[in-house]
Amino acid sequence: MHFLAPADARSWIEVEPDSHFPIQNLPFGVIDRRGRRVATRLGDTVIDLVELADAGLLALAARDSVDAAALSLRPRLFELFLEDASALRDNAALRARALTPASTARMALPMPVRAFVDFYSGINHASNVGKMFRPDSPPLLPNYRWLPVGYNGRASSVIVSGQRVRRPWGQTKGADDPAPVFAPTRELDFELEMGFFLSGGSTIGEVVPIERAEELMAGFVLVNDWSARDVQRWEYQPLGPFLAKSFATSISPWIVSLDALEPFRVAGMAQDPPALPHLRPGPHGHFDIRLEVSLKTAKMTRRQRISATNFRELYWSPAQQLAHQSSNGTPLEAGDLYASGTISGTEPGTYGSMLELTWRGSQPIRMDETGEERRFLEDGDEVTFTGYCQGDGFRVGFGEVTATVLPAHLG
Ligand code: MN
Repeated sequence: MHFLAPADARSWIEVEPDSHFPIQNLPFGVIDRRGRRVATRLGDTVIDLVELADAGLLALAARDSVDAAALSLRPRLFELFLEDASALRDNAALRARALTPASTARMALPMPVRAFVDFYSGINHASNVGKMFRPDSPPLLPNYRWLPVGYNGRASSVIVSGQRVRRPWGQTKGADDPAPVFAPTRELDFELEMGFFLSGGSTIGEVVPIERAEELMAGFVLVNDWSARDVQRWEYQPLGPFLAKSFATSISPWIVSLDALEPFRVAGMAQDPPALPHLRPGPHGHFDIRLEVSLKTAKMTRRQRISATNFRELYWSPAQQLAHQSSNGTPLEAGDLYASGTISGTEPGTYGSMLELTWRGSQPIRMDETGEERRFLEDGDEVTFTGYCQGDGFRVGFGEVTATVLPAHLG
């Protein structure tokens, strides 16, 4: 059931024109407020949907987690918050119970993460990494344009924006070292990604065709797939990343539905060779989402933007990624999270990781406010991603995913 809000619709809740959360968005999340409670957001106001359910204004199946039933309430939320709708607007007591400022709301994971898969569909990122790690070979491996490369990550370390990230220990080995050492990573990095949660699933042996892939998606979040590059270089062959990626993955708290993103659909980049039939996409499987990365060191008072790019820079669309995952009949489950892979543009300043922005540390980033330099992340650094779609007079956005780096535990 699709519901597209008209572009000129306005809410009785105040929403600034540059807010990520107008009535055209109506995302779903969970607030930590006398327990986990399903919520939505308009402008700088968070609305506790459990209170609205208890008042009889809507029916909620699960009260503590975003599920398919909650997602189907979006048209009802639109009705309740439209500027001339009085049921909640004119009920001061209920408003006082249900509405809370976003600045004080404590956000939790929107749903329990059942599985975490990380793709590698940012073709400019994959090319850059290939050039750095395998300088004597073609930057893309032969399979790259035939299938969306990915790996099974770790669900238990997916955390919500605001939660701090501890610098991990790991094995690293320089090219000339006789043996590896076990020590805190010296090449801590972020990866600018987006991800989709599933709200539906499939049974073992069932293959979800690409035409139906989007029906299973709850919506999108921003993803910071934290990485330890020195650990990654030593461990990743032959089976792929393992501990270099599994210590933390941060996500933004609001799931933005595909219906809210519908006006911002775009065609993807041309695929050459054409995908095999089971991965052959519809014409508009990508989304025009502007993405930014900012960094604030412990000495700085404000964030500095260090990268800007767009979700369109993916070679494989989300629908192609999910169709590939399902193509061998593995069961899909509500709560599965699929991350896109690092999203980089084609120019310096549009890259989605420190590895690329500093070209493996050789071109440090200078912080304007303090004159500090960064090759990789240092303790106390705060990394923030934001993302939004620009409509005609409104934005549909994701808010932010932010986290600060904590020092490693003592050995
Ligand atoms: Mn990644």
